[in-house]
Amino acid sequence: MTAAPLYLDHLASTPLDPEVFEAMRPWLDPAAVGNPHAARHRPGWRAAEAIEAARAEVAALIGARPGEILFTSGATEANNLALLGGVPAGWPVIASAIEHPSVLACLPELAARGHRTATLPVGHDGTADLDVLKTLLAGGPALVSLMAANNEIGTIQPLAEAARICREAGALLHSDAVQILSTGTVDVRALDLAFLSLSGHKLYGPMGIGALFMREGTALRPLLLGGGQQEGRRAGTLPTALCVGLGAACRLARQRRSADALHLTALRERLFAALRQELPDIRRNGSAEHGLPGCLNVSLPGMDAADLLLDLPDLALSTGSACSTGSPGPSHVLRAIGLSPEEAHGSLRFGLGRDTTEADVDRAAARLVDAIRARDRH
Ligand code: PMP
Repeated sequence: MTAAPLYLDHLASTPLDPEVFEAMRPWLDPAAVGNPHAARHRPGWRAAEAIEAARAEVAALIGARPGEILFTSGATEANNLALLGGVPAGWPVIASAIEHPSVLACLPELAARGHRTATLPVGHDGTADLDVLKTLLAGGPALVSLMAANNEIGTIQPLAEAARICREAGALLHSDAVQILSTGTVDVRALDLAFLSLSGHKLYGPMGIGALFMREGTALRPLLLGGGQQEGRRAGTLPTALCVGLGAACRLARQRRSADALHLTALRERLFAALRQELPDIRRNGSAEHGLPGCLNVSLPGMDAADLLLDLPDLALSTGSACSTGSPGPSHVLRAIGLSPEEAHGSLRFGLGRDTTEADVDRAAARLVDAIRARDRH
């Protein structure tokens, strides 16, 4: 049997932390029967209690109150709910050009419903242009969606400054914080955010669960109608094991994020130094100064990264050419920061994680360099 590839795609999905798995295990046992919304028996109450404890953990990670957290199926749903359900009637919607597709795909739908929409340009390192935001908001309040950190190039946005501009303009700010929460902090109170999205499987928690923070008193039109669960704001039976897993992952993130950030920053710089030494024309995409600790996105001039990965079955990496399944075109993020389609096709994303070691990044760098040299020889 061949060994499992070295997993360096943590921005796509993180492994379930063993502690999270242990927290979930009792709720996957057949003995844990009980609909958490069934209020008339003990199995139902016990599940409901476990879910409410998990909700409090999610809230604590971002400085929210438990009543401001809605569980969703993931960040795609949370983003859809914030934009489609959170926009006040007649308000324009502004989103940065490098938002995740689960935000950007809402814009044509909002336009079809009569909302004006605008995209906020970003600079060469992926930082949103806040002067443009000010200009756009001079016309009146809007719902603004600005991610905390980008999932392809890792750029961390100046959220505090954006929040100040939004507050002064009476705008509502939504932030997709999916990528930042395992290594950084976002305090919804300090920023006065209206909405925030997060996802379990980017936080060493389970797939299929996420959450939307919505500030108390913020109006929301539900996307899912049904049995009135979660105070009618998001119908559907909550999956006890997944909610408990997300809660445990949030608790762990709170304990580990500072140490993990230091560890990952050191590894990222070690990886880039090793690559640059052997491949002098390699280019770093995103912001070296304001970047996610675990993310390194590089362009390899003249290379087709997808092709190159075929020579590297022992490494699990992402390219910048297939940012979303089914779209073979170059990534909208790399195009928005000014890369040509050729440069975008020559880009690779390393996503380092909690368990990545120095030996792992050294091996990945050596394997990549070897594969490029082997191609050059042909
Ligand atoms: N936003 C960002 C920034 C992401 O990276 C992702 C996952 N790729 C999502 C949203 C969607 O999250 P989920 O997989 O939970 O739907």
